[in-house]
Amino acid sequence: MSLSSKKRPGTSVDATLQRLEQQHRALLREIDDIGLVLRGTIGARRMRCGKPTCRCKADPPLLHGPYYLWTRKVAGKTVTVRLTAEQAARCQQWTRNMRRLDRLVKKLQGLGLRAANAVARSA
Ligand SMILES: [Zn+2]
Repeated sequence: MSLSSKKRPGTSVDATLQRLEQQHRALLREIDDIGLVLRGTIGARRMRCGKPTCRCKADPPLLHGPYYLWTRKVAGKTVTVRLTAEQAARCQQWTRNMRRLDRLVKKLQGLGLRAANAVARSA
């Protein structure tokens, strides 16, 4: 086996980094399409009230609502905000955007990890 048939380590790392950089750029373009982002979840809940003779205590119960709630953590505590159906629909799209952004950021971090490993392994 001749020496010239061996890949030079430096060249191989550069090629890997170039490929990772391209994937990184593609992910950034996807992020560019994402609209407003919002942490938390939007949920609809039906509830019972305090009135003992209310229809929500009947059998079968007719619960109140739905009530739309935006729930999120603030400094470790759950914070809940009541929303109208229209507000909930709007905010729900933003929470979907948040999850998409989180997924893309995870992918970016994965590329960075592969790049660092490629550099660390290179001579
Ligand atoms: Zn009730």
